[in-house]
Amino acid sequence: MCAGRCARGTQGVPMDTSVNEMQFDFEGLIRLVAQNLYSEKKVFIRELIQNAHDGVRRRVGSSGTGRIDIETRPQDLEITVRDNGVGMNHDDLVEYLSNIGKSLTRLERDETEGLIGQFGIGFLSAFVVAASVQVRTRKDGESAGWLWENDGSKQYRISECEVPAVGTSVTVRLRDVSDRGLIQETEVRELIRKYADMLQIPIYLNGSAD
Ligand code: ADP
Ligand code: MG
Repeated sequence: MCAGRCARGTQGVPMDTSVNEMQFDFEGLIRLVAQNLYSEKKVFIRELIQNAHDGVRRRVGSSGTGRIDIETRPQDLEITVRDNGVGMNHDDLVEYLSNIGKSLTRLERDETEGLIGQFGIGFLSAFVVAASVQVRTRKDGESAGWLWENDGSKQYRISECEVPAVGTSVTVRLRDVSDRGLIQETEVRELIRKYADMLQIPIYLNGSAD
């Protein structure tokens, strides 16, 4: 066994150094997130609403033209949160959405008032409950749209796809039938009232604005 001094020469100079990256185990991280940060499963909906809000703010500021649409399909175990915000291109998806701890929102906090996100981990909360997450998005000023898909593991796929309008929609399909209650319309309406009322961007739930 090397007792520490082995890796150093007699003068304390490193002799042979290998540089490696820290690794993380995706499922272990999700368990940690679920048990410590997000012990209430339904908070993933709040996180998606917050991201939609920030996306809208970054595109239109407080001009009043932004909106968030939420659709619940409990029979299919699905909920979709859609915004007409700034959207993401391929590089944004790789660099920010898929990079735990990285946040473009944080980098833009000085330029845009009222942004909420900063830690770059909110999106991860969807994986506490998700069998799969699909993100369809098109960035403001760009013509290519993108589909980002993850079926609850460390791997994700990105493909180019038709996205009719600028903005982002995130669809979460639940893993467990027993979580279906989280995405019932009445539950989601209550959550919107509780968490999202102060956001100042209209939120439509299954087409109606409350
Ligand atoms: P945070 O919100 O703290 O930045 P998240 O993990 O929730 O962290 O999101 C990570 C990043 O993904 C955001 O900073 C933003 O760059 C991007 N993102 C997520 N959702 C959206 C969205 N609806 N519209 C635009 N960008 C988004
Ligand atoms: Mg966020």
